[in-house]
Amino acid sequence: MANGYWQKLLRVDLSTGARSVEPLAEADLRSFIGGAGLGAEILRRELPPKLPAFDPRNRLIFATGPFQGPAVPGGAKFSIVGISPLSGTFADTAAGASWGISLKEAGYDVLLVEGRSAHPVYIQIIDDRVEIRDARHLMGRDTVETVDAIHGDTGDTRLSVACIGPAGERQVAIACVAVDKHSFGGRCGLGAVMGAKNLKAVAVRGTRKVPVADPGRTQALIKQYQKAAHDAVLRNHFRENGTPGLCETAEGLGDMPIRYWDADVWPEGAKRLGAPNYTKVLQAKPLPCQYCPTGCHRRIRISEPSEYELAGPGPEYETLGMMGTNTLIDDPKAVAKANDIANRLGIDTISAGAMVGFAMQCWEKGWVTSSDTNGLELNWSNPAALIGLVAQIGRREGFGALFAEGTLGAARRIHPDAVETVVHNKGLDYPAHDPRACLSLAPTYVTGTRGACHFRGPCEDVEMGGFFLPEAGITQGTVRFFERANQSYVAVKCQDLGALTCSLVICMFMIDGSEFSLTSQAEIFNAITGWEWGVDKLLEAGERAFTVQRILNVRDGYGAATDVLPKKMRQVATEGFRAGKAIPFEALMQDYYALRGWDESGAPTAATLARLGLTA
Ligand code: SF4
Repeated sequence: MANGYWQKLLRVDLSTGARSVEPLAEADLRSFIGGAGLGAEILRRELPPKLPAFDPRNRLIFATGPFQGPAVPGGAKFSIVGISPLSGTFADTAAGASWGISLKEAGYDVLLVEGRSAHPVYIQIIDDRVEIRDARHLMGRDTVETVDAIHGDTGDTRLSVACIGPAGERQVAIACVAVDKHSFGGRCGLGAVMGAKNLKAVAVRGTRKVPVADPGRTQALIKQYQKAAHDAVLRNHFRENGTPGLCETAEGLGDMPIRYWDADVWPEGAKRLGAPNYTKVLQAKPLPCQYCPTGCHRRIRISEPSEYELAGPGPEYETLGMMGTNTLIDDPKAVAKANDIANRLGIDTISAGAMVGFAMQCWEKGWVTSSDTNGLELNWSNPAALIGLVAQIGRREGFGALFAEGTLGAARRIHPDAVETVVHNKGLDYPAHDPRACLSLAPTYVTGTRGACHFRGPCEDVEMGGFFLPEAGITQGTVRFFERANQSYVAVKCQDLGALTCSLVICMFMIDGSEFSLTSQAEIFNAITGWEWGVDKLLEAGERAFTVQRILNVRDGYGAATDVLPKKMRQVATEGFRAGKAIPFEALMQDYYALRGWDESGAPTAATLARLGLTA
């Protein structure tokens, strides 16, 4: 058996109730490592092209990697892979808490769910005992109530629970998967795929420890990097401020979305939303995933005003951008309340914020009126509009039901001119980073295998000077703001790193924020597996994973014709840091395709596939 793995895939067919354990070949693990890389390859082998996301044949793949066995810092993660209802192609999303570690402890690397149950169920896994249990009594419960109810039903509070809320049950296309009440596999709508399968939750616990090649060295390295990461996040204030600490810097560089991407500056808003004000107003404290020295998540408490009262996970930078500056709302309490509603109903806070900003734009243009919204006033800066519309989207009711198939679907119903105003790639709304500020984001977003995503390649942090990848020649000064040189190289290498990170399954904030370098990760990887890989080989595995995902995109109808910038990203700022600057998009894409080894249609060439040991 390969060290660091059980080499076991647990398959559950919800149509028939069949359960089986299948071997995972070591050759596949050596090619794809695990997580989203391995999940993509399984989709490629098992699914026909253009399969609708809600077809029972769609797979939901919950995948771990080698880092979920020992207590690797940032290793409390797992990937969920399937076909997205937003894009109709490959999707992956990652969540934390304890679920991935628990699946590994139960003796599996991967759980694959297929089919559709005749009625709502949840899966319970405790070591070899795999049960499909009735979940009819859980329907309608939110993501917090569901965890409590499963713990109550089973009497086992040690079960880690990944579940959907009402949004997933109603197949809202931005439904997320919530884990243990505080971590969220947010993007791409795989919670809606769970809902289409009538799968309310997966609860897991285990008692096993996966063997590693060199236990002594593994533990020594883990101890060393726990301390190094902890020291780094105290030094750079990441633990103290979490991601809200980024707001003022991002706004100052023109990177933050303002007024649904139409405005260029709002320093006062960013200051009020971000740390340190956030920390003070929301009484925020670090909320770490298991084994994490960084604790980027925030635990917050609001006691007044009474309508915003809550205690639980607070909004991240992305949510502050998409629900805050994007809608011209600068009250952290209002954004925190909308964030909490989204979390409980089980929707992605990034896309939910995009939808509210888009709706406010439509209101301003007169495409939506109070007769459409049953009186809800969707004007800018209106917290009631944010909170009200987020709740409607999550419950798929009222005006919010219009967004059940995504922002693009709503635009098609609202007004013919609304479609070209949607800021997306592959149907996935942009996150809160603007490619007009950091040029490498332009090729990154348009070619993102799950749609527009900064976190599958954090290239914007290279430009901002907060993250480098010296192992791939990326250091201070490799790219400069608004200059074409090396931007596409940074995009390619950061995407490969992103695909690698999601295959090893380790939190991106370990390397980007906590100074847990790729070289250090390689040392731990080798101590666990005994494979003695260099960083080049790891990055090549990331490139292979990314390329398999691109193959899925291409066969599902994506390519050069869809690798395009949204119209708003052609707008040039009139004030602020990026005033007068345009994205040299065609030149960047020319560089990008050449570096990737893709043909004019956007498909990997035969030579590229051969170099990576792949077939189309
Ligand atoms: S850095 Fe944040 S997301 Fe990553 S493992 Fe730690 S707490 Fe979880």
